[in-house]
Amino acid sequence: MNNDNTWTVKDAEKLYGVKRWSSGYFEIGENGNLHVTPDLSNKDMRIDFDAVIEEIKQEGIQFPVVLRFHDILRSQVANLNNAFISVMKKAKYKGTYRGVYPVKVNQMREVVDEIVDAGRAYHFGLEAGSKAELLTVMSYDTDPDSLTILNGYKDEEFIRLSLLARKLGRKVVVVIEKFSELLLLVKISKELNVEPIIGLRSKMTVVGKGKWEGSGGDRAKFGLTISEIINAARYLENQGMGDCFKLLHFHIGSQLTDIRAVKEAINEGAMIYAELHHMGFKLDYVDVGGGLGIDYDGSKSTNDSSRNYNLEEYVADVVYGMREVCDLEKVPHPHLVSESGRAITAHHSCVVTEIVGEIRANSSELDTRKVKGDHILLTNMRYLTVDLDKQNNLQEIFNDASQYKEQAAAAFKLRVISLEELAKIETLYWQILVRVRDRIKHEEFVPEEMQELDYDLSSQYLCNFSVFQSAADTWAIDQVLPIVPLTRMNEKPSVNCSLVDITCDSDGKIDQFVLEKGISDVIPLHHLNPGEDYHLGLFLTGAYQDVMGDMHNLFGRLNEVHIFSHDDDPLDFYIEEVVKGSNVEDVLNIMQYHPSSMAQTVKKQIDAHIAKGNMKPREGVKWTDFYEDCLKGYTYLKTSD
Ligand SMILES: *Cc1c(COP(=O)(O)O)cnc(C)c1O
Repeated sequence: MNNDNTWTVKDAEKLYGVKRWSSGYFEIGENGNLHVTPDLSNKDMRIDFDAVIEEIKQEGIQFPVVLRFHDILRSQVANLNNAFISVMKKAKYKGTYRGVYPVKVNQMREVVDEIVDAGRAYHFGLEAGSKAELLTVMSYDTDPDSLTILNGYKDEEFIRLSLLARKLGRKVVVVIEKFSELLLLVKISKELNVEPIIGLRSKMTVVGKGKWEGSGGDRAKFGLTISEIINAARYLENQGMGDCFKLLHFHIGSQLTDIRAVKEAINEGAMIYAELHHMGFKLDYVDVGGGLGIDYDGSKSTNDSSRNYNLEEYVADVVYGMREVCDLEKVPHPHLVSESGRAITAHHSCVVTEIVGEIRANSSELDTRKVKGDHILLTNMRYLTVDLDKQNNLQEIFNDASQYKEQAAAAFKLRVISLEELAKIETLYWQILVRVRDRIKHEEFVPEEMQELDYDLSSQYLCNFSVFQSAADTWAIDQVLPIVPLTRMNEKPSVNCSLVDITCDSDGKIDQFVLEKGISDVIPLHHLNPGEDYHLGLFLTGAYQDVMGDMHNLFGRLNEVHIFSHDDDPLDFYIEEVVKGSNVEDVLNIMQYHPSSMAQTVKKQIDAHIAKGNMKPREGVKWTDFYEDCLKGYTYLKTSD
């Protein structure tokens, strides 16, 4: 055990870098536990994750769970709106800010409810990108000053729905993604005699750097080219609907890593807006889309998982960039719309999982002492351990050990050595690697083939969750998510680990971690104490991750715990809502199985065994009940009752 008395929570902060990605919401407390301050306007409010874990256990909720901090959502809505309000004031900007939340980023009802509620004070609206999302958005009773923005490809039904919403008094803007939609919109609005509010989405020449750069440029899937925009505007004019064209839209990608792309897009968008104005199309709004990034890896850089700017800088570039062009061109400042989803939701949820086991390559503890008749390969390998004691050519020892191990594997296949000899050779091999690794730690230069030693020798901690369900982007697009232990951070972590999940898929692992020196393939964690739980948190999962989970291995949705803070007691919190995760029946139903008839089939098999006298009736009843209970149970590993 590694008992380092000089280790403090400051070292833990340095190692895990919580402050670099947490935007002030999470912090390592003096007691070594992670704390959350869910409402940044009330810093006295602090919740200890360990207390949350205890409460969850008390309530009999099984891990893994998604924790949702509703106060964080509210805080983020306020931050974004206040940032625009204060920058606009400083810049003497004449338009207002009318942001919308794109529901695709997290469509959970509780999330949208909270954002709509927190946004009321700011006339914050909603954005929908599909028919199902529009149906959802229409069920919210937003105030007449807030916008409902409709993006995405639209069919006739989508357009009819949007006009119904318009009839009901909502400020619905139909954003045209391709020309044919405009013809449909004009036709149906005349038929229904409803005056639409029309936005045109512009394809931009600026390409946002990062994983979503396909959203900009000539080959972008959405939007109109400049000539199409001019044609569209003229067409509307000819139809007597020139006044319906009220908004210019662009969106150059999500998670924009480089502020330069934002500046260029604003400049380009502002120019198009001004030109349209000169042509007589006096638009009210410019919608700058989403893209406001999150610093997942805490590096403040243009890494794919980071961004080289903060919220205030982003807002300032949008507002001042627009003002500058408008003033030069002598056109009015338009109202500004943005569609930030990731930035609002990412922080509010995290996944808490427990470690249920450890897998080590070098876990074998065979007795490797010399016995008579040992094969030469085994003897040679043993000699290397003696060499290690005296000689310093670590590279040679490492190469020899690797070679003997390979030869041993071949020799075993040819029946030259026994299984037991092979096992002893492997045991010695891993012992040698550990010793080589411990010695090269102090060397300046480490040869290339030995640089992977740390990873080869690291432990794999087995986490009770599914990467595909809870951290889909780490697997799909190499997104980095911060991961930290929730307790014991006042203790020096002594085990280098990668994480594997409980799915049967070899992709079900996480081996990219945000650490002090950048991205590492292993994360130092604490050794597991027998009989004691050890929990990890995966953070910044509130945007996209939350709603992307799939049915991989039939694990399904996680249990969810919604946490609210107390107004009267800053250290206290309460769990207001528990949303049950999927049980086995749920996930089987989705895959077209019929759990009740499955239970029948198994019961028949059991009955047949009873009839044959292979099983006692009482035992048979127990097994039947057990099978049915399992169908009703949580899909993840049961680790406590
Ligand atoms: C996805 C999307 C957004 C949200 O982007 P974020 O980067 O999450 O803020 C906004 N607008 C459009 C058109 C989108 O497709």
